[in-house]
Amino acid sequence: VILALGAVTFVVGLLRGEPIVDMFKAAVALAVGAIPEGLPAAVTITLAIGVSRMARRRAIIRKLPAVETLGSTTVICTDKTGTLTENQMTVQRIVAGGRLYEVSGAGYEPVGEIADTDAADAAGDGGLRPALRTILVAGVLCNDSQLVRADERWTAQGDPTEGALLAVAAKAGLDREYLQVEAPRVDSIPFESLHQYMATMHDAGEGRSRAVYVKGAVEVVLERCANALDADGKRVPLAREAVLADVGRLAAQGLRVLAFAARELPPGASRLTHDDLADLTFVGLQAMIDPPRPEAIAAVKTCRTAGITVKMITGDHAITAGAIARQIGLTADAEPVALTGRELEQLSDKQLIERAQDTAVFARATPEQKLRLVEALQSRGHVVAMTGDGVNDAPALKQSNIGVAMGIGGTDVAKEAADMVLTDDNFASIEAAVEEGRGVFDNLTKFITWTLPTNLGEGLVILTAVFLGTTLPILPVQILWINMTTAVLLGLMLAFEPKEEGIMERLPRRPETPILTGVLIQRIVLVGALLLVGAFGLFEWAERSGLGDDVARTIAVNVFVFVELMYLFNCRSLTRSIFTMRPFSNRWVLGGVGITIALQLLYTYTPFMNTAFSSAPLDAYMWLPIFGVGLVAFVVVELDKWLRRIAARRRGGLSVRAPR
Ligand code: ADP
Ligand code: MG
Repeated sequence: VILALGAVTFVVGLLRGEPIVDMFKAAVALAVGAIPEGLPAAVTITLAIGVSRMARRRAIIRKLPAVETLGSTTVICTDKTGTLTENQMTVQRIVAGGRLYEVSGAGYEPVGEIADTDAADAAGDGGLRPALRTILVAGVLCNDSQLVRADERWTAQGDPTEGALLAVAAKAGLDREYLQVEAPRVDSIPFESLHQYMATMHDAGEGRSRAVYVKGAVEVVLERCANALDADGKRVPLAREAVLADVGRLAAQGLRVLAFAARELPPGASRLTHDDLADLTFVGLQAMIDPPRPEAIAAVKTCRTAGITVKMITGDHAITAGAIARQIGLTADAEPVALTGRELEQLSDKQLIERAQDTAVFARATPEQKLRLVEALQSRGHVVAMTGDGVNDAPALKQSNIGVAMGIGGTDVAKEAADMVLTDDNFASIEAAVEEGRGVFDNLTKFITWTLPTNLGEGLVILTAVFLGTTLPILPVQILWINMTTAVLLGLMLAFEPKEEGIMERLPRRPETPILTGVLIQRIVLVGALLLVGAFGLFEWAERSGLGDDVARTIAVNVFVFVELMYLFNCRSLTRSIFTMRPFSNRWVLGGVGITIALQLLYTYTPFMNTAFSSAPLDAYMWLPIFGVGLVAFVVVELDKWLRRIAARRRGGLSVRAPR
């Protein structure tokens, strides 16, 4: 459009009989003036400042545009374990051989008691019942993690779930080193979210059968069991219903329940395969607490006021997931329980779109189902942030608008696929990033609203001069001076504008709404028109007073700079009155204004600049009308904001407020 306008200017001038060189200069001036040269740089720098703000809040951005997308997020799909919860697991209940045991102690410290809840039986010889011993040994041997003690504190190295199993066994006096020497591992099947179990095979001594231990999600393990162990270690028929009832009771308290099973394989066996995990003997359950993160509870609440839906997607049991979701405030008590992966599988894509909307908790979900969910939500126009840690999560992370990988617990593949990495694996950091993203988007809009009137004004001034056949009020090189110095020293300072109050009380921006709304376009035209009238008017006045081209142009250039300078203060907020804002909350603006004034004095008064830019010194009184135009622009824009606020209040509340 600008090139076409330039061509028209050129031709119109020639038809009027103006010299070719002058018209060429005018066309160039128009192009230089109308194109916002500083825009790409300013956008990139604003996004980059957003990146560093987010990094301070533990969210590392891998792809720059994600900063902007974050601000319009409407749904966050998050893992449960470690993201919404602490990932500090402690085994609290054990069911072994049909008996319930209660475990005391907190954290990974191996201090606590395992008490039989059947008091009559508890007064035994003090030794471990065989089934209890087996489940504890299984927990130690079918395990790839360690407990380490540093500064008097015990922590789990590896999987916290496994750390808890080591801690509870240590409470019963089972020594890991000793067990590993007694029954060295021969082969193993590592844990994978896809299978939801882990198994190991051990050498129990010369000529003796291999011992196989399996631990994993209840449904998966139970499916492969043929019988069960009773408290005394005898094989008995498996009472599936009773086990599931136990699981339901434990999970309803928000406990994470792991099932344990064992079998024997022939002495010489050297490889363990998935097919070997059949005809197992069910040993029991270990149930561990993983308390919700207090910050996550607060962040979920914030998301709610910000019109962002939070959904939990977990590999854990439906009842456990539901209980934690209630504790975190994701769902109300009355809401239906979680949708499980199995139920989800039965749904057609159409049905899923409906269910995805109104279900808050997805349990036993697989990575492919995560992908389907993202697609279902997106088909309804949602902007989806999705967390993931495993290799299989990569497609879902890629498909989502914001893929979020876990920095501590995540795989490299997941991080590669993600737009953002959380250094603390914490849900609260996602919420913080969204908040910063909204701030960045606001600041970008402020910058654009600030910068475009200059370009419009410059374009209009040149066009008017050509069409009226008068001298050019500003030369191309002067336009370049205005654009480059003000974009960097004034406009860019808006990138440092602090987030506006109540930024998380608005609804998310609709992705399809343009950056510039009607209100802002009208404001840009208004300021552009003021620039035209002010600059062109003062230029003509100076010409007619016989001050000469150079002085007249210096006045026009200063009108542009001082209007932009005053308008910068208006743009610190696009809706609120400048008088309600703390004047020193963005010191960058003040610094930029100071330097700009100094530069304009140099531009006007030093011989070097006078030569370089064809500027000329001004008499003191000439500054009065220049400041006058700046002040008028400032007042007019504040009036415009004020009228818009009144109109918005009439329509029923500021439109940016989320409904309560
Ligand atoms: P989440 O972390 O959301 O619970 P995962 O996919 O990591 O989801 O785990 C799914 C299920 O697999 C868990 O609920 C648990 O039953 C089981 N599980 C988790 N970690 C292990 C492990 N290290 N060994 C065996 N089973 C596990
Ligand atoms: Mg996990």
